[in-house]
Amino acid sequence: MSSHPLACRPHDHQRCVRHALAEADQICARQGVRLTALRRRVLELVWQSHKPLGAYDLLATLSEQDGRRAAPPTVYRALDFLLENRLVHRIASLNAFIGCTHPDHPHQGQFLICRQCHSAIELQSPGISSAIGEAAAEQGFAVEGETVEVVGLCGSCRSGT
Ligand SMILES: [Zn+2]
Ligand SMILES: [Zn+2]
Ligand SMILES: [Zn+2]
Repeated sequence: MSSHPLACRPHDHQRCVRHALAEADQICARQGVRLTALRRRVLELVWQSHKPLGAYDLLATLSEQDGRRAAPPTVYRALDFLLENRLVHRIASLNAFIGCTHPDHPHQGQFLICRQCHSAIELQSPGISSAIGEAAAEQGFAVEGETVEVVGLCGSCRSGT
């Protein structure tokens, strides 16, 4: 069940943000961890679009929009918290963060990253994970984590809209 529109198509993105924040509130309450004002604000900023956001851009926006200079270590700790609680993913190839579209269950990160508009579409394909697991097992390798980052052109960019 996913109520998330395709990231690369025009849509009411405020709805995505509201949904993500409400889901984060629920998940943190259930897990008994505190979504502090700063953690929530950082999550909101990561969700400002479907484009992965780098830590420097995050810091810049935070001081620009909130008119306060958040200490970088505090913001990095907030990001760590969001990663630990699986509310965001880290896109290694871009050294950036993106809000998770289905944080309610553990999963590996699988992303289609558009090289033109820089949006990242999260996939949920158990088939990819099992194929990686099988290929790894053939090498006698035990998989502990996997992040799949596929680069290409999204539907909107391909159709030039
Ligand atoms: Zn959206
Ligand atoms: Zn996710
Ligand atoms: Zn694109």
